[in-house]
Amino acid sequence: MDEETNPPIRQDYPESILGSQHRREAIRRLSEERLDVLVIGAGVTGIGCALDAASRGMSVAVVEQHDLASGTSSRSSKLIHGGLRYLEQFQFGLVKEALAERNLLLSRLAPHLVTRVDFLYPVQRLWERLYAGLGIGLYDLMASRGPRLLPRHHHLGRRRVARDAPALKDGSHKGAIVYSDALVDDARFVISAARTAAKLGASIATSTRVVGLSRSNDRVSGATVRCLESGRELQVSCGTVVNATGVWSDDIEAYAGESNSRVRASKGIHLVIHKHRINLESGLILRTTDSVLFVIPSGSHWIVGTTDSDWHLNRSHPAATHRDITYLLGTLNEVLTHPLTTDDIVGVYVGLRPLLDGDSDKTSKLSREHAVTTSVGGLVSIAGGKYTTYRVMAADTINAVRIDQGLDLPESSTDQVPLLGSEGYIKLRAQIGEIAEMSGVLPATVDHLLSRQGDRIYEVLDLIKEDISLAELIDPRLPYLRAEVVHAVRFEAALHLEDVLTRRTRLSIESPDRGTNSALQVAELMARELNWDQKRVDSEVAHYLDRVAAERASNEQFDDETADAQRVAVGEVRDNFN
Ligand SMILES: Cc1cc2nc3c(=O)[nH]c(=O)nc-3n(C[C@H](O)[C@H](O)[C@H](O)COP(=O)(O)OP(=O)(O)OC[C@H]3O[C@@H](n4cnc5c(N)ncnc54)[C@H](O)[C@@H]3O)c2cc1C
Repeated sequence: MDEETNPPIRQDYPESILGSQHRREAIRRLSEERLDVLVIGAGVTGIGCALDAASRGMSVAVVEQHDLASGTSSRSSKLIHGGLRYLEQFQFGLVKEALAERNLLLSRLAPHLVTRVDFLYPVQRLWERLYAGLGIGLYDLMASRGPRLLPRHHHLGRRRVARDAPALKDGSHKGAIVYSDALVDDARFVISAARTAAKLGASIATSTRVVGLSRSNDRVSGATVRCLESGRELQVSCGTVVNATGVWSDDIEAYAGESNSRVRASKGIHLVIHKHRINLESGLILRTTDSVLFVIPSGSHWIVGTTDSDWHLNRSHPAATHRDITYLLGTLNEVLTHPLTTDDIVGVYVGLRPLLDGDSDKTSKLSREHAVTTSVGGLVSIAGGKYTTYRVMAADTINAVRIDQGLDLPESSTDQVPLLGSEGYIKLRAQIGEIAEMSGVLPATVDHLLSRQGDRIYEVLDLIKEDISLAELIDPRLPYLRAEVVHAVRFEAALHLEDVLTRRTRLSIESPDRGTNSALQVAELMARELNWDQKRVDSEVAHYLDRVAAERASNEQFDDETADAQRVAVGEVRDNFN
């Protein structure tokens, strides 16, 4: 092998390892040190804030009541995009900013996790072709600063669409426009960003919930944090608390005595359908009465979404009703040659958009802009926004912290900080065959691991070197390896069975049994790492099975209240331990 084809020199970053030692040290720091910043919430926004603060030299810790990305940040449409439909709402600033972020993520910050996706936009009439073509042309133009990373849109005639998209029935279009955007595995992105923040000195403690704020001299000066694994309460002292809790934002404001409601939760559901059921070469975007419907390629599946409706019930696990599911299937079936039925649904997931409350009755018409507020000294809240713009949101938030503390801080430089995994990724992509040969796994396995771990692939391959049985698949229908379970615990802060089944892997939505057949196997692998006894293994598995049963039951209900009741009855795995 010459220098060109040699795998890049491997870099180990021990500080980036989010295992049990990191968590223990994080809890120690939370209870013993005075931090510059305490971030509440480990969604993409909170982790983005921690990364921004750490990269400006601040001491920072994140507390998260559940798991990394367990809120909205693992339940999005997984698009890194400007949002074509926001152009129609004249939100040009938002679209332009988001497109600039998309390009940055694709090229420099996270090429291992953010990839190109093409969408077919079927058109019915000439005026529609002109109107949509103009909008998409503007979209392309707004993204054109710097090197062109994605191809420009192009038009297809009716016959070409019939050939490339046989799934679309005759008469459902008179041709189409094809445009390009970007896709991300949202949960994995947060994990990669969290490890990057840790590498820069941030401490991250999952399963820790803020249950109150402390004050001194009319300022918020810290928080009371409950560790949900031990039941212990900690008094955390800090310069500024950053409230990055998405749809929970108003709760944290209320701890500081603020009663204004600013965030409106809007529910969006997605269906996961096996690839072979919709015969398309690219993704699909359809106009609906209020919004758009996407069919998004995602590995061996399609993701179909989404809906947009107010949600006032349990925010940890919102429920998808039969009505939501019928709406998505019905809308898509209007254009499909072979209509889908509920039997085609492999998985369902639901998220809540933390939207800034506004004038419109309809949540789909509310702005996707973000707002940073300091309602009381020492507490900075960030609300609204989009996944795509998390980095800008984080920079604005830490700028507000700078003002709050009167600090002389450097400007944000996170546009120059590639996420962990991206550094050697491009080089490794060109060496899939060699890596497979050296490590004794299939090229398809290397491909799978690279697109999830980037240059951290060695961490997983090392585990396989130690124990070849870890190269086996968890579920023979899906590409996830047993080694990824061990890696999730040792490197990625997984503490409970559902962390692995729903966010470190996507077994919960990609397996037709929703991960139930893999639950025991995965729990036993985790038990070896986390010293669980049989009772703990049984309770983790039982909770997961109950959770899936409740989700299935809620999918049969017609209204939100009854669907939600199914889920609420199961509760949270973390709350069950104390
Ligand atoms: C259906 C849907 C589709 C979407 N699609 C896209 C898309 O394609 N592209 C895009 O750019 N954006 C999309 N979005 C928007 C995007 O997903 C969200 O803006 C983003 O994920 C919000 O992240 P967050 O970190 O602010 O909130 P969250 O991810 O919800 O994080 C908040 C965290 O705070 C924690 N927390 C709350 N209270 C406490 C407490 N007391 N103590 C400790 N922790 C606490 C929660 O557990 C949670 O993990 C979509 C949203 C939805 C719902």
